[in-house]
Amino acid sequence: MSFIKGLRCRECGREFPAKAIFVCEYCFGSLEVDYDYERIHGRLTRQLIESRPANIWRYRELLPIDGDPTVGFHTGMTPFYRADRLGHALGVKELYIKDDSVCHPTLSFKDRVVSVALSRAKELGFDTVSCASTGNLANSVSALAAHAGMKRVIFIPADLEMGKVIGSLIYAPRLVAVEGNYDEVNRLCAEVAARRKWAFVNINIRPYYAEGSKTYGFEIAEQMGWKTPRHIVVPAASGSLLVKIRKGFKELHKMGLIPQPETRFYAAQAQGCAPIVTAVQEGSDIIKPVKPKTIAKSLAIGNPADGYYAADAIRETNGWAAEASDEEIVDAMKLLAQTEGIFTETAGGVTVAVAKKLIEGKRIPRDESIVLCITGQGLKTQEAVADHIGKPIRIKPTLSSFEEHVKL
Ligand SMILES: *Cc1c(COP(=O)(O)O)cnc(C)c1O
Ligand SMILES: [Zn+2]
Repeated sequence: MSFIKGLRCRECGREFPAKAIFVCEYCFGSLEVDYDYERIHGRLTRQLIESRPANIWRYRELLPIDGDPTVGFHTGMTPFYRADRLGHALGVKELYIKDDSVCHPTLSFKDRVVSVALSRAKELGFDTVSCASTGNLANSVSALAAHAGMKRVIFIPADLEMGKVIGSLIYAPRLVAVEGNYDEVNRLCAEVAARRKWAFVNINIRPYYAEGSKTYGFEIAEQMGWKTPRHIVVPAASGSLLVKIRKGFKELHKMGLIPQPETRFYAAQAQGCAPIVTAVQEGSDIIKPVKPKTIAKSLAIGNPADGYYAADAIRETNGWAAEASDEEIVDAMKLLAQTEGIFTETAGGVTVAVAKKLIEGKRIPRDESIVLCITGQGLKTQEAVADHIGKPIRIKPTLSSFEEHVKL
């Protein structure tokens, strides 16, 4: 049963049918899925959600498909827990981590968006999927499309980390490595999209794809006992995840499942690619595109599609934004690993480093609940830390060699 009303222009509000379209033909605004909330209200209860399997589809009434889901039965419901050791290190009382570094199947939150995108793409009759990616999306589309029996053509920047290249190739997509940065890859992909009848998850399927990120927010609220945190720090590339977590909170409230959210949103970006941070800090409505240069490649989008909406969400909730240098990113990856036992990728380092900065700068108070969004896996970006974590102690297989070299 479908609860989709249609697509609605985020700018002029005009309604469109729920097809593979993404821009308003009147004002060129981007399109967003609109639901029949009146029919969902009352039907979708906490009990119903809790009775369903632990994956993203437990919130299916608020996800953009008509029939039964076909992709992503093991995706979502990732760990959420209190992080007291990291909290102590950062000097705060109530810190939580939402850990998508272990999201199934490709170890990043992109598995959520792709599960939704592919389920919808199948409904719309596509047999080939494609995307432009900073790495994690490539992994996720490659894996989930293989599982769904769909053909896959993936565009990436040629300079991606080995872990992300191998993490795509193993699923045998047509992997196209473009000599350029993500924004150039994305532009090329949009040109290809105008000629091929494929489901481009972040172009013509984007309105559906982006809705998958709401499940990260739904789960945080459910796992906190049906409430929301006072503060949430979100890594931002296109800015979509941040915007959709907020939409997820608002929808749960609208459906009567949680109290009025009073969450402040904070964007975390890398110093070498921080167009959203710049707009927020300068109080500007305009996102000025930049040329990315950072080790946080998964966040290296110089011209973020949802940058404007992310900055807006931050302003509306009285949040803020900050950036982290490459060195701070590495230090933060180590801090998270050594306090909480989580090996996150560079994007997670950005989140932890920025949270530290916002706390030290008194943007986030020390005595209120804070959620950190850890969105990706450290084994994929080993290059970033390989030279900063020391070496094993090499010894001969003898007790005397052990005693000689290993001093505790
Ligand atoms: C894509 C990505 C993000 C940011 O996603 P947006 O929705 O584009 O802002 C954050 N973390 C990781 C690990 C990602 O791969
Ligand atoms: Zn419009």
